[in-house]
Amino acid sequence: MKKKKISASVHVGPNEIVTHLVGLKDVRILHYARRGPVGEIDIEQVLIDPRCPRCDGPTRVKDRPVVAYCDLPFAGVPMTFLWKKHRLVCTSSQCPVKTFTRGDHRIAAVGCRLTSRAAKWVVRKIGSGQHVSHLAHTLNTSWDSVNTAMRRYGEAVMTADTKRLKETTAIGLDETLFLREGPFKHKYWSTTVCDVVNNQLIDIIPTRDFPEVARWLHDQPEHVKGRLQYGCLDMSRTYNAVFKVVTPTATRVIDRFHVMRYALLALDECRRRVQQVQLGHRGRSGEPLYKARKLLVIKATATDPQLQARPQLQARLEGLLALGDPDGEVALAYGVKEAIARFYETTDAELAADTDRSGICSAIPMTRGVAPDSAHPQRVQHVDPSSRLHCGAGARPPRISMGE
Ligand SMILES: [Zn+2]
Repeated sequence: MKKKKISASVHVGPNEIVTHLVGLKDVRILHYARRGPVGEIDIEQVLIDPRCPRCDGPTRVKDRPVVAYCDLPFAGVPMTFLWKKHRLVCTSSQCPVKTFTRGDHRIAAVGCRLTSRAAKWVVRKIGSGQHVSHLAHTLNTSWDSVNTAMRRYGEAVMTADTKRLKETTAIGLDETLFLREGPFKHKYWSTTVCDVVNNQLIDIIPTRDFPEVARWLHDQPEHVKGRLQYGCLDMSRTYNAVFKVVTPTATRVIDRFHVMRYALLALDECRRRVQQVQLGHRGRSGEPLYKARKLLVIKATATDPQLQARPQLQARLEGLLALGDPDGEVALAYGVKEAIARFYETTDAELAADTDRSGICSAIPMTRGVAPDSAHPQRVQHVDPSSRLHCGAGARPPRISMGE
């Protein structure tokens, strides 16, 4: 049987070997040296009759500046290219171009201290969750060089990726604390823009002020703004104004998370106030309202398997409130919180409207309408706590306005 011949190109000249290892087109390797932990390779472009970019006339070399670029590590050794550039002069006296430096984006982009392939690698790595500082250490370069490359190439990737964003009818705005800086920990906020329909992050705006956020939304193409049916926001007046001004036809929706957060804060505030009125001091361990503080947070309809003992918890909460909340104020606040939670779980629009009318809204005028106790102005009279506690699983929407 005839043995198949395996052929491979063999390079024997050291320059040829290094050129192939470096693997850049139209580049000549001038020198290699090891300086401490870093390998340094001197390179230059192969230029044949370079022409002026303006008049296409002949040029002559004026200078050979050397610029250092960080490249990908080779065999675990961080590499630096010392690119001996060509600064050229146009020989035509009429040409407005005097001098120019020849570059090559295949080697490195303008204003970037990393080679193109190192910059692309950085973008991929940061995209997969690695830190800039870690990559800077791997490449033996500065944090700033890696970050600049990331910004320059990342922007290009985002611009080129036109299929990243899907069509949407709902955009959400939310603020995020981005940075605390300086001796006084000055807070810097950013605005997160989300595609609520496709659960996708669209953009991050480095401020939460009206002009910038409104400009972002205003700058979106007409087919995006025109199709927008819902603007989702927290309870921020700024974001409300943004949607109101830029997309007035879109329905503004306050998202559930923020509403529930405020409901829980109000409930907790009520609990602490009642505690102070009843006992004259803040909650201490062993006191009924203090014991009830975590039970108040748990949603009556929670499906968490750890809350299987729901009826017992409910009975315990009722008992604690009967002891620590004789006027039923905390029970009322709890009922409102539960009604809001139930309202957000309702998928039937009519039932939701009914819950809204009967439960949430009516509770507020009711509490205001009840005459305060003259001895304790913050207390509300004529309230039966047991009648307000409708929090069993599957219960009807609670009648919060129990005085009816
Ligand atoms: Zn010229």
